[in-house]
Amino acid sequence: MPRIYEMSPHLADLIAAGEVVERPASVVKELTENSVDAGARFITVEIAAGGMALVRVTDDGCGIAPEDVETAFLRHATSKLRREEELAAIGTLGFRGEALAAIASVSKIELRTRERGAAEGVCLTLEAGVKRDKAPVGTPEGTTIAVRDLFYNTPARQKFMKNDRAESAAVASAVTRLALSHPEISVRYVRDGKEELHTPGDGRLQSAAYCALGRDFARGLLEAQNKMDAIAVSGYVSTPAAARGNRSWQFFFINGRFIKSKLLQAAVEQAYKNSLFTGRFPVCLLNVELPLGAVDVNVHPTKLEVRFADERAVFDAVYWAVRGALEREDGPAELPISQSTLRAAGLPDPKKLPGAPLFAPEKPGFSSAKSAPSGNFFRHVPAQGQGKPFKPALPEFELRESVRMPDQSSIPLPEQPRPIPSKAPEPVPDPAPAPRRDWRYVGEALNTYVLVERGESLFLIDKHAAHERMLFDKLKSRPHEPTGQLLLSPVICDVDGETAGVLLENANLLTDLGFELDDFGDGAIAIRAVPLDMDLSDPAGTLEEIAGKLKTGGKRDVEAMRDDVLHTVACKAAIKAGKRSDPRELTALVDKVLSGEVRYCPHGRPVSLELTRSQLDRSFKRA
Ligand code: ADP
Ligand code: MG
Repeated sequence: MPRIYEMSPHLADLIAAGEVVERPASVVKELTENSVDAGARFITVEIAAGGMALVRVTDDGCGIAPEDVETAFLRHATSKLRREEELAAIGTLGFRGEALAAIASVSKIELRTRERGAAEGVCLTLEAGVKRDKAPVGTPEGTTIAVRDLFYNTPARQKFMKNDRAESAAVASAVTRLALSHPEISVRYVRDGKEELHTPGDGRLQSAAYCALGRDFARGLLEAQNKMDAIAVSGYVSTPAAARGNRSWQFFFINGRFIKSKLLQAAVEQAYKNSLFTGRFPVCLLNVELPLGAVDVNVHPTKLEVRFADERAVFDAVYWAVRGALEREDGPAELPISQSTLRAAGLPDPKKLPGAPLFAPEKPGFSSAKSAPSGNFFRHVPAQGQGKPFKPALPEFELRESVRMPDQSSIPLPEQPRPIPSKAPEPVPDPAPAPRRDWRYVGEALNTYVLVERGESLFLIDKHAAHERMLFDKLKSRPHEPTGQLLLSPVICDVDGETAGVLLENANLLTDLGFELDDFGDGAIAIRAVPLDMDLSDPAGTLEEIAGKLKTGGKRDVEAMRDDVLHTVACKAAIKAGKRSDPRELTALVDKVLSGEVRYCPHGRPVSLELTRSQLDRSFKRA
């Protein structure tokens, strides 16, 4: 048997460094977290050569006493945790006491620090974790730590580093996360002598977002707020139109700590359901504040992941915060940004940008204890017995009278069963008696776009997209009721055997949506009823499209499959672009669009475009 030895502290530090210090960006993360914990109001991050040659972090925090500077670099040395019980409620970003030891073991360090109010400071240098020099020094209050030649003594590690540009980019995202998680701190980032970021530290998330992510991004943001019991959610989410091709701009913070979380990601994306194209992802900056004891931050060496005591409650709080924001959406926002922000960001005056104020008034009674229709995390789909109509998974909450439900389409409301008319063409519902309208129908362009004038604006409405959305919402809002239209005589259509098989396998789901389909033998299907009055000019094509969705839907949940089928139904029943419509048919549609009730088609495309008089005047050089 080999003998067993206790590791030398240096070897243990090197191993810890492997976990904590992966690349220059991790050094930046750890050093800046220490600055935050030290109560800094200003933090400057400087790097050279992607951070491999130098990472220097300067803060104006509490500083370190001269007699403690060596201790700070010992493994498991911390000022943030003393007793076991404190581990259950950690209020600082750091607590493991290993970052400085780990960084020091793989670099050359110079620390300069002066406690607030102290007459002088101290300078300590170390190489590979070994003390080289310590001397009193004149230095500003606060702490500066310079980390040079990272991994100089671990060449194997050095080989894994990417080029300077990639390492700089990783540092930039670490700095961005810092700036966004602490808008009250002014964060400056200097790369190879050039200032890349400078946030004002005015305490406003939108100022930090404006500087760190850019003006265009900040303009497409909606404020999200929600408080449920002890959980408070605040921040911003993007309009569906401002979604992106990946998730890199989804930022989640728990009590000011940047984290990665599949749970929160699911809560946000669930809230956007049916507003986004597949492959598009909402942007979000969301901070969740919850009692320290309700979250365990000690589950990951770099503290990037956390565990929640009550996942469901956190999911719901975030879901409803985002739904609320999307509900209140009233167009792109103008940012109330201070002049100092603009100067810091070197950006022009956003007042020149069009749009409404960012902060929509809070809706009373919105926050309340209710559960969100959840994603895969909590879905309980009741067993779908043969011959028994499928009942969709209902959110597990009781409706309180005072609570206004944020989304009619996601909550099945009880309704009287609808009689099935034999055939009632109803292209667009036209409500009567007609209320006085504040808009004027101008005409229809290209047989596709409805032109409407209201106030000082001209609106172009994509009639097919808008109608599709209306029908989709209508279908979704009555999932219990048959919405079928019996056909006068069944339509027989020949499809291939596989399509017929898939349709018949999913007969329950389709019946529930208003279809009545029978096996007609030899790959033929008899259609006896369809939801709404779907266009059946190409019945086989429609059935094939639906079967295609059901086939690929096999691995997903039933709710998603239903939505997919409803998309097809809504699309087939909606008035078509390319065919002229009777203006009277369009009234209800225009009302819904102008009232803001219908904004995006089920695939996430906008349904209307507003041209203001001033925009037009400017285009014609009248202004
Ligand atoms: P942890 O942050 O987990 O406590 P670190 O190794 O990162 O462990 O830091 C060790 C200690 O050094 C901290 O607990 C803190 O007391 C002190 N320290 C580190 N950086 C700073 C700083 N910038 N300002 C003041 N104190 C600091
Ligand atoms: Mg630390």
